[in-house]
Parts: sequence; structure tokens; C-alpha cells
Amino acid sequence: MNLSAIARKGLDGVLPSDAEILFLIAQAPERLNELLEHAHRIRMARFGNKVGLCAIVNAKSGTCSEDCAFCAQSGHHAAASPQYPLLSEREIAAAAARARRSGATRFGIVASGKLVGGRDMDGFEAAVKAVAGQGMTPDLSPGLLDRSQLTRLKKAGLCGYHHNLETSAAYFPKMCTTHTYDEDVDAVRAGLDAGLYVCSGGISGIGETWDDRVELALLLRDLGVPSVPMNFLTPIPGTPLEGRAPLSPEEALTIIALYRFLLPDRQLRICGGRPTVFGTARRSEVFTAGASGLMIGDYLTTRGGDAQTDLDDMRRAGLAPAKE
Ligand code: SF4
Repeated sequence: MNLSAIARKGLDGVLPSDAEILFLIAQAPERLNELLEHAHRIRMARFGNKVGLCAIVNAKSGTCSEDCAFCAQSGHHAAASPQYPLLSEREIAAAAARARRSGATRFGIVASGKLVGGRDMDGFEAAVKAVAGQGMTPDLSPGLLDRSQLTRLKKAGLCGYHHNLETSAAYFPKMCTTHTYDEDVDAVRAGLDAGLYVCSGGISGIGETWDDRVELALLLRDLGVPSVPMNFLTPIPGTPLEGRAPLSPEEALTIIALYRFLLPDRQLRICGGRPTVFGTARRSEVFTAGASGLMIGDYLTTRGGDAQTDLDDMRRAGLAPAKE
């Protein structure tokens, strides 16, 4: 078994065998650089030198009914997260305009909570139009939407529906007890059925095993999700995971590379937790580990980095922003 042969499978879109997946995971730490080089090669073959840049606004924050153990916005935890209802269309448009000036092309309107009521639906519809009016591709992360809500928002101009599965089906109940994994999978399927660009991924560093990471990637592959956000835990005081140590950069890079082998043609977007795991010194390493997309600016409840620094890092790596 060797990395080149498994990488060739990735280039052909062929899934590695179970034994090959274990072989990939076992390359770190001694042969990590070689693993990353192959992942980067697959990424370059599929996406050229382009990086998809997105940004988000935390459009409705805090007091969430759900109890996701890693999240500062849960009303079940004691984290000091901001709390406010849905921002106005004007505020969201202003945030989208700032993101566009930073170089992002997709803009996600993110709202805490599980279900969406009529008033928020009106607000989302107006926000989607406002984001499109700023020349950005409007995406929405609103919790669970039913078919008629998805159809209504698509008619209003919504392009992307974001709903993370977070981790494997087996590990999910240890992270969230207020809704089921099947509800999340159904939400992803509903978004795909509605013809939306679905962005669905997970978070690493929450105590999951390599099996959980592989299981999530394979489910996303089977579902046909085109875009996979990859988050890394930032332990937030007041959440049940506050005492968990962040992943090492090497482990996070191995996860990114593994996902590139398992999801060779999907947009892998590095999102929350990058500053926590990589710091300023190593933040650019994600660009040559297999990632093809990046969230710039701030995350939901934690600070991101300077977008210009990311653009400079990308150029140094021979990469350029995509016109998604
Ligand atoms: S991850 Fe989403 S659903 Fe879970 S607590 Fe946070 S805002 Fe609520």
C-alpha cells in the first residue's frame, strides 16, 4: 500500500478501501508532509489554484433551544454569548457589503435556533434579497426548514442552505440531546431536494474518534453534499467542553487531508477554530493540506483573522480567490 496509489484513486474519484483509510490516518506524524502533498495535489487537480471565500454574519444570536455541547449560543449553557433577535435587513446588507470588500463572494446569514417562525421567515426573505443586492451569493443557516420554507426562500433568491451534521450518528447524542441526528440528515436532504447548494460539515476536537470523522465524511459523500465546512473546537468558558484541549495543528491537518482523499470533488471550507488550532504562525498551512475554501472574517462567537492576511497567505501559496 502506498500514498501515491491511494491519491490516484482520489484523482479518479474512487473511494479508498477501509484498510487504505486506516493507512492514511497512520501517516501522521512521521509522513504527514507527504500525506499533505498528496491531498494538495488532489485539490489542485479538482479546483485549480482557486480558493472559495465566504463570510458570515451572526444574524440572530443566543438563547438557542438546543444543547449542543460545543456551542456558546445554547440557552442550556452559561457561556457569555451575545443575545439578540434577527438583525434588520439594513444591518445584514451592511455586513454583506463589508464581506464583499474583504474578498468574500458567498455570504451566510446565520441564526441560532432549531425551528423558524413566520416573523423570522419574513426577515430571512428580506435578508436574502438584501445580500443579493450587495452582489454576494446569499446563503442561510437558519436551523431546520421544511420544504415550503425552502421553496419560498429559494424563490426569494437563496442560493445556499447551511446545516451541519457536526459528527457521526453514533457520537452525536453525546453532543446534543434536544434533537436527533436523523432530523439533521433530513434537513440536509430537504435542502438538496429543493435544489439548493447545501453546505454541511462538522466540528472536530469534541472528543470524537477517527471512526466518527470517517463516518461523517462518508455520509456527506453519500448524501451528495457539495460543500463541507470544517470547524475545529475552540473551547468556550461556560460550555460543557470548556476544559477540552484544542486539537494539535498536526491532527487538524491530518483531518483536512483525510477529508480531501474521501471527498475529492467537494468544496472543503476551513471555518471556525482555525486561529485556536493554528495560531498566527501556522494558519496558512491549511491552504496546502487539501482545503479549497475558507471562511474569512469573524466566526459566530469567536474572532477570526484579518482577511488581507489570508489573501496574502493564499497568494504566497500560489492560490487565488475563486469567483464562486
Ligand atoms: S450549534 Fe446551532 S443548534 Fe446547536 S446550540 Fe448552537 S446555535 Fe443552537
